Amino acid sequence: MQECVFCKIIQGEIPAEVVYEDEYVVAFKDIHPAAPVHLLLVPKKHIPTFFDIEKEDEAILGRLQLAAGRVAQKLGLEKGFRMVGNCGEDAGQLVFHIHYHLLGGRTLQWPPG
Ligand code: C5P
Repeated sequence: MQECVFCKIIQGEIPAEVVYEDEYVVAFKDIHPAAPVHLLLVPKKHIPTFFDIEKEDEAILGRLQLAAGRVAQKLGLEKGFRMVGNCGEDAGQLVFHIHYHLLGGRTLQWPPG
């Protein structure tokens, strides 16, 4: 997707602090961190929202989950972390390329606003 900011990061056209990358997934630091550790876990495939996920994307989503645990361990988040995925207007989704926020490094409040 030409105008997608996350596709541009994945293609190296926009700089980002990438902390993990494999065949399916990239994880990079959020530019507006809401916690000491705040990453975005993003599939390389452009999928606009969670509503658009197809059966054929199962493996990609599985890899995203696997990457989350590995990256969190690598960054020393043994006490835990949170994954949040915003979908659509009500959730305040800003970038229409699916992603999970991975937050940690402090005690997190619940429920989110
Ligand atoms: O609301 P949504 O989950 O779509 O949030 C998108 C996130 O992407 C924001 O937290 C924003 O700071 C982050 N972002 C980024 N780098 C960019 C553009 C957006 O980390 N170049």
